[in-house]
Amino acid sequence: MQANNLTLTSWVEVPEDSDFPIQNLPFGIFRTKSNPAPRVCTAIGDYAADLAVMNYLSLFDELEIGNEVFNNRYLNDLMALGKAKTNALRNRIASLLDAKNDEAKDLAWHFLHPMEKVEMLLPVKAGDYTDFYSSMEHATNVGAMFRDPAHALLPNWKHMPIGYHGRASSIVVSGTPIRRPLGQTLPDGADRPVFGPSRLLDFELEMAFVIGTPTSLGEQVTTAQAEDHIFGLMLFNDWSARDIQKWEYVPLGPFLGKNFASTISPWVVTLEALEPFRIGGPEQDPLPLPYLQYEGKKRFDVNLEVQIQPGGGEPFTVCRSNFKNMYWNMAQQLAHHTVGGCNLNTGDLCASGTISGSTPGSYGSMLELAWKGTKPLKLPDGTERKFILDGDTVIMKGWGKANGVRIGFGEATGKVLPALEY
Ligand code: CA
Repeated sequence: MQANNLTLTSWVEVPEDSDFPIQNLPFGIFRTKSNPAPRVCTAIGDYAADLAVMNYLSLFDELEIGNEVFNNRYLNDLMALGKAKTNALRNRIASLLDAKNDEAKDLAWHFLHPMEKVEMLLPVKAGDYTDFYSSMEHATNVGAMFRDPAHALLPNWKHMPIGYHGRASSIVVSGTPIRRPLGQTLPDGADRPVFGPSRLLDFELEMAFVIGTPTSLGEQVTTAQAEDHIFGLMLFNDWSARDIQKWEYVPLGPFLGKNFASTISPWVVTLEALEPFRIGGPEQDPLPLPYLQYEGKKRFDVNLEVQIQPGGGEPFTVCRSNFKNMYWNMAQQLAHHTVGGCNLNTGDLCASGTISGSTPGSYGSMLELAWKGTKPLKLPDGTERKFILDGDTVIMKGWGKANGVRIGFGEATGKVLPALEY
């Protein structure tokens, strides 16, 4: 793929540590003060490039994509065009931004906007959202904390990608404040619940993939076909109220402890841009049922990081993990999701589940990092954290680096506001 050519450079200046070199070219939805209509853009260095204007300028004429696809509140119509078209678009953008091609250079003032002057909006309209539970380290930690450490994984865990149907309506874009939820909790030792703000508010470090090409009702997608349906990935913070979750989850699973908010990063990084980071494994023992077996490299080596920034303070890194810390890969998740005939629509999101590594500094939630509140984290300002406090901002970042080229996801951030009065 031309856009992935590691020797390409752009006539747009790209700082060395940028998430957005010419090899990335993610898609997003943005608007500006002077033009508040939402439209499709890509990122290059510290700039957002307005693809609606580039299409008006006839720069994509050979692709024959209607203006309405780019003058759009969401990426769904673009994603639904299919990979042949969207990959051709990404390659065309790469060619127009290539340092060796000055065809679009004189027009740049029409379509390039400094990133700090644009507002990034929720990029996809998700009709449905599914949350998996696919990091063995996370599932083992949670099982050890709440059940028997010797039998931390439940008997089904190594036989299928465990998941549940989440809530799509409360998915918000990075930067949206998060209100501490109210709900029922059962205080330790009490025999009846109380109502009030969650006291154990947590983040979950996850990646989400978005469906581009839909599947039809009754259609089973194989592990070999699955990636044809995955348009791209985002950072995903699956905010969780642990105390609400603990009281409500038996027997049907999480509900209000999970449905008040999830934060996604604004840039959808295409699966194609992540090609340099493919890796194989891990070995799966026992061997999964045939419909979950796969060939090739299906995991991705993407560094992940979580910071907590106290109100008025500096960001402090509390977790360094990696997207490769997944037992079940996206192709297996999608094959499992559809094996009973469930259809997936363009824009649907599937999140990985909390991505924890094997060392304490790589755990992807406060529940694990502070081990159920027994090992509080010390922040540089002298305060301690067992869970997330009002005024804290949680910042997630992700990037892969290969052969000197860094492909990043930007950030997924959310500041926690005090609960409403009740
Ligand atoms: Ca989750």
